[in-house]
Amino acid sequence: MGDASAAELYQIIQQLAADRSRFETILRQLPLAVIVADAPDGRVVLQNEHAERILRHTFSDDWHVDSYRSYQGYRNGGSPLEPDEWPLSRALKLGEVVEAEEIDVIRGDGSHVTIRVNSAPLREAGGAITGAVVVFDDVTAGRRNEAALAFLTRASELLSASLDYETTLANVVDLIVPGLADWCVVDIVDDVGAIRRLAMKHRDPSFEPLLVELEEQYPHEPGAATPPMSVIRSGEPTFHPTVAAEGVERAARGERHRELLRLLDIRSYICVPLIARSRSLGAISFVYSSSGRVFEPDDLALARELAGRVAVAIDNSRLFASESAVAAENARLYRESQSAEARYRGLIDYAGDTILVSDDEGRFLDVNPAASELLGYSRAELLTMGIADLTALGSAWTAGEFDKFMAQGYWTGELDLRRKDGAIVPVEAKATVVSLGADAVYLSVIRDISHRRETELMQREFMTIVTHDLKSPLTSIKGFAQLMQRRRMYSDAAVNAIVGQSQHLERLINDLLDAARLEAGRSELRREQVDLTALARTVAGYSQALTRGHVIRVELPAGELRGHWDGDRVSQVIQNLLSNAISYSPAGGDIVVTVGESSASGGRREAFVAIQDSGIGIPPSALERIFERFYRHDSEHSGSRGLGLGLYISRSLVEAHGGRITVSSEPGSGSTFRFTLPVEG
Ligand code: ADP
Repeated sequence: MGDASAAELYQIIQQLAADRSRFETILRQLPLAVIVADAPDGRVVLQNEHAERILRHTFSDDWHVDSYRSYQGYRNGGSPLEPDEWPLSRALKLGEVVEAEEIDVIRGDGSHVTIRVNSAPLREAGGAITGAVVVFDDVTAGRRNEAALAFLTRASELLSASLDYETTLANVVDLIVPGLADWCVVDIVDDVGAIRRLAMKHRDPSFEPLLVELEEQYPHEPGAATPPMSVIRSGEPTFHPTVAAEGVERAARGERHRELLRLLDIRSYICVPLIARSRSLGAISFVYSSSGRVFEPDDLALARELAGRVAVAIDNSRLFASESAVAAENARLYRESQSAEARYRGLIDYAGDTILVSDDEGRFLDVNPAASELLGYSRAELLTMGIADLTALGSAWTAGEFDKFMAQGYWTGELDLRRKDGAIVPVEAKATVVSLGADAVYLSVIRDISHRRETELMQREFMTIVTHDLKSPLTSIKGFAQLMQRRRMYSDAAVNAIVGQSQHLERLINDLLDAARLEAGRSELRREQVDLTALARTVAGYSQALTRGHVIRVELPAGELRGHWDGDRVSQVIQNLLSNAISYSPAGGDIVVTVGESSASGGRREAFVAIQDSGIGIPPSALERIFERFYRHDSEHSGSRGLGLGLYISRSLVEAHGGRITVSSEPGSGSTFRFTLPVEG
C-alpha cells in the first residue's frame, strides 16, 4: 500500500457503520431488554424492542438518564428510587456494577412491572467511563404469584381467627389497603334485603368521612343498575381497568354527590360478589384513585379468590349465630371443618408453586397438582415417598438439612431435585412448621428456577461480551484512527491494524448474529443439490490461503458425493473447524480434511467430513463442554480468540441438517472433529 487512498478509508468507515447496524440487529433480537447510554450526559443511544415492551414506553431521541424522573420505581422493601439511584445512573455516574437487583416500576400506562436488573459501565482502555449498559428482564409473574399466595394465606388466617365477622372484615380491608387498592368497601345484604356497609378503608384516613357521607346520604337503591347492586344481583364481578370521570359523575344524584365522587376519584375499579352456597351475600369494591395504579386481570382473579373465602367466613358465622343446640353445634363444626378443608384445598391447588406437606420424618402427607407437574411422579407415587427420595445431593445432605429445619422451624434455600425421568431441576424452597394442636406438619413451597438460572447466566454472558470482547477491537480501531487524525498522516501500519481488527470484530458480530438467529429459530436452511467433494476442496483451498505455517491436505472420494444440503452453511461449518484447527495448532503442521461416505443405523447412508490437526488438543474435562454456547477453554493460547460460539453454531447447523458432530482429542497431540450429513435414497 502506498499513499492515502480516500476510497480505502471510505470503505473502512462504511464497514464500521455496517458493523454497528448489525450489532443493533442482534440487540433487537435478544430475548432480554437492553439499554445503552453514553457518558457523561446519559443520552440513550441504543435500546431494544424488548425494553420498550417491558416498560411500555417509547424512547424519544432526547431521552436520557435523568428522564428517570418521569418513572416511579420502588425497591424490594417499598422505598422509592431517586433518579440517581437507578442502576443505569449508578453505572454511568459512579462506575458501579449492579447485579440482579429487583425493582418495582410503575410504567407509562400506570401498570406495575417487577424487573430484575444488571448494569455495568463501559470503559475506555484508559479506564474512563464512556457509557453504561443495562440488561433487564420482567419477573412480575413470579413475584405476583408469591405475593398473591402470601396475601391469601394471611387472609385465610384472619378469616378463621374469629366468628365475629364484622371484626374479621375490618381486618380484611386493612390487608387490602393500600397494597391492593387505594380504597375499598364491603357491602352486605342484611336479613331484610337492605344493603349495609360493613367495612371500608381509605389509604388516606382524612378521606374516610367522605366515604361515610357517601354511604349515609346516597345509599344504594336495591334496583340500581350500577355496582355493587348489579354485581350482587347477577353474581358476576365487574372489572374496569380505566374508569372515565364523566361516566362516574353522570350517575351523581345532585351537586354534593357529584363532588363526593370527584373527590373519591375512581380511576380503576373492581367489584366482586360474595357468594356462599350459591347465594350472593354482598360485594367487595376495590378502587385505585390518586396513586394512578391500574387493575390487571390477575388482580381480578385474586379479588375473586379472596371474595370466595370471605363469603364462606360470613356464612359460617351467620350459621353459628343462628344455631345453639348441641346437634346444631355439631353440624356447624362439621360444616366449618368442611369449608376449612375446601379453603385449604383451593389454596394449595390454585398455587402455581409446588406444595409438599410432610410429617416429621420428611414423608409426604399431601402434595398439590403442581408437584406432579414439576417432578413427573403421580400424586399416588409421591404419597409413598419423602424428601430424601427427591434431593439430588444425597441422603446425608438431606438428613443434615432436615435436622436444621427441625431445630429452626423453617428452612429456605436453593437446591437441586431429581425428577422421575432422572433430570435435575434447580428449585428455590421455603419450608415451615404448621402446628395443629399437639401435632405438627411441615409445609414446603417449591419453585422451579431453571428459567431464572438460564436468564441469569445469559445476562452475565452477555454483559461480559458487551463490556469486554466487542469493546476491545473497537478501542484499538478508534485508537489507530485517532492516531492518524492527530498526525494528519496516513499510516500503513495503522490501516492494517484497523482492517485486521475490523475483520476480527466482523467475525465476532457474525457469530453473535448467527447464534441469535439460531436461538430465535429464524435460521432456515436453503437446501439444494450440493457436491460435498467439490465444496470441501474449495473451502480447504480458501483456508490454505490464510495460513503459511500449516499444510492443509485433502483426502477426497474419487467422484462426486451429492446430497440435499445448504451449501453455504456446510461450508461455514468446515471453515469454522479449519479455522479452529489453525488457531489451536500454534506450532504449524499438517491439517487433514477427509470426506467420505459410510452406512448409518437402519441401513441409511451418510456423508462425513473429518478435520484432523496436530495442535494443542483438548483436555477430557473440556471435551464435553466445547459445543456449548459461549464456552471457551482457557489455554495459554488465546491470541485472537472468538466468543466461544463457533462450535455451538457448527453443531446447531449440523443438527439442523439431521447430522451429528463429534470430537476426539489427545492433549498435546491434536484433535479430530467429525460431522455427518444424511444422504437420501
Ligand atoms: P472460539 O470462537 O472461542 O474458538 P469455538 O466454539 O470455536 O470458540 O471453540 C470453543 C473452544 O474449544 C475453544 O475456546 C478452544 O478451547 C476449543 N477448541 C476448538 N477447536 C479446537 C481445536 N481444533 N484444538 C484445540 N482446542 C479447540
